[in-house]
Amino acid sequence: MTDGDCIFCQIVRGELGTEFVGESENAVAFRDVQPQAPVHLLVVPRQHVPALRDLGWEGGSVATELLELAVDLARQEGLHEGGYRLVINDGPDAGQTVFHLHVHVLGGKKLHEPLG
Ligand code: AMP
Repeated sequence: MTDGDCIFCQIVRGELGTEFVGESENAVAFRDVQPQAPVHLLVVPRQHVPALRDLGWEGGSVATELLELAVDLARQEGLHEGGYRLVINDGPDAGQTVFHLHVHVLGGKKLHEPLG
């Protein structure tokens, strides 16, 4: 897959008209089109990175920036008091379906325990 085919790259470039709920230098956030909770955001790097394991150690600052934006947006969405869940599916066995790294931010209800 090239960056041109990647749906999240198209969103980052503004080609699908998706509203951003947050932005930082190297990351953007938008609402998941099929929300699994009252609040379900996706935080993605602007640059095309297929999955977490493709970041490498030099990607540490990108990972930090994704988490910082996720935590800031969770606060903005009113999730800090009750808590929330961050999920990264890293590869097909984990259920990753869009191969552009993303952090799910889920909250706004008591979440079930589907971990594994
Ligand atoms: P994953 O299964 O971890 O790869 O998650 C991919 C997520 O992307 C799913 O929750 C989808 O609902 C979501 N998704 C796919 N296409 C779009 C889109 N165009 N806009 C927003 N979310 C999307």
